Amino acid sequence: MNAEARTYQKGEIPGIIRIDSDTCKGCDSCKRYCPTGAITGMFGAAHAIDTEKCINCGQCLINCPFGAIHETVDTVDTVIASLQDKNITVVGIPAPAVRVAIGEEFGMADGSLVTKEMYGAMKKAGFEILDNNFAADLTIMEEGTEFIVRARHALFGEEGHGHVGPLPQFTSCCPAWIRYVETRYPSLIPNLSSAKSPQQMAGPLAKTYGALEIWKKPPESIYTVGIMPCTAKKFEASRPEFTSAYHFLKKEGKAGSDTLYPDIDTVLTTRDLARLFKKMKLDFRKAGDVEAGPLAEYTGAGTIFGNTGGVMEAAVRTAYRVLTGNELDPLEFKPVRGMKGVKSASVTLMDTKYGKEVTVNLAVVNGLHGNIEPVLERVMAGTSPYHFIEVMTCPGGCINGGGQPIKSDGSSWLRAALPLFGWK
Ligand code: SF4
Ligand code: SF4
Ligand code: SF4
Repeated sequence: MNAEARTYQKGEIPGIIRIDSDTCKGCDSCKRYCPTGAITGMFGAAHAIDTEKCINCGQCLINCPFGAIHETVDTVDTVIASLQDKNITVVGIPAPAVRVAIGEEFGMADGSLVTKEMYGAMKKAGFEILDNNFAADLTIMEEGTEFIVRARHALFGEEGHGHVGPLPQFTSCCPAWIRYVETRYPSLIPNLSSAKSPQQMAGPLAKTYGALEIWKKPPESIYTVGIMPCTAKKFEASRPEFTSAYHFLKKEGKAGSDTLYPDIDTVLTTRDLARLFKKMKLDFRKAGDVEAGPLAEYTGAGTIFGNTGGVMEAAVRTAYRVLTGNELDPLEFKPVRGMKGVKSASVTLMDTKYGKEVTVNLAVVNGLHGNIEPVLERVMAGTSPYHFIEVMTCPGGCINGGGQPIKSDGSSWLRAALPLFGWK
């Protein structure tokens, strides 16, 4: 491992985000958006990113007014070549936040919901579809039930589930947040939910059940493409532990290859997917209605993952249903919505198994920058009142991720929308 990659495992891509020193004006804007202080350079001089501190969120990239920041990983041409190879089945896995943003790249109004056009264009390009909303539903079932196990262990001493992590439980679907914990607060790793992110649940699903039962193709011929609002997802897909499908299929004698393959072969951001459609000369606005298949079914819980507070709201609904046998009423859980930096709420519910009422304290960290450290310091000191904490690195959640469309003034969607929230 080279000196530049001390905090990276073998195989991981270090330094997804780079500053082009020839284009950088040294204006310092990017520093305001970086949650880790990874950007160095004097005002007026070309800046640089410390790869070891960087968590790949891309917030600097979508807020550089001079377009001086770029990604080092561009696989649009590789995906097009795979789509044109008859021996490969390319499975596109679009995240919740992509469908409310990609329309902007084709002149549609900001925030247009274009699921129909996105599916249509993907099908025309040659993708099979596994909607990441489907996998987000899986994640929330895992994360919600894991929280119940941890809470019952802590509150009632329940045993019988093997190793149970401590409270508070942190969400685990944001790879930039995971890298933040691993590199800065490693003692809190046991507090992270053990649930994989939706992208990393979708990959093995595509290469096992999808390959064998839905598309009837050899697993080794499936090429999985995460389609994400996020630059950190490119890093996540490269992590060496994410090879579950291969190991499972190998045991079953169905891997079809002696060469290890990853669960997610590559990741395209929202901007990348728009470029792919343009390169393939697909008319996105007229792509039409298509049948996306059984792995494109999903609930409202999966859909709201793209928004700050969405994972927590989905988890609360799930935990409430499992513990009480009833739906949360009203189903919308508004205290965790909105643009405050740290939001908190409490839910009192009856655990029917134990016949006792429990009050669960929840928090949502909306963007790491300026919000996360006080929350973590209290957890470290053992004085945190919270049992479950959602953390999303990007302010606003994945809808404002580093892979989303950039406004013509070099700003992110959120910065353009700040006046709507009364922010300057
Ligand atoms: S915002 Fe862009 S131009 Fe300004 S210092 Fe950062 S990289 Fe350079
Ligand atoms: S990608 Fe994120 S962590 Fe890395 S330098 Fe940019 S803002 Fe900072
Ligand atoms: S908040 Fe969403 S878009 Fe931003 S780094 Fe995390 S997963 Fe990626």
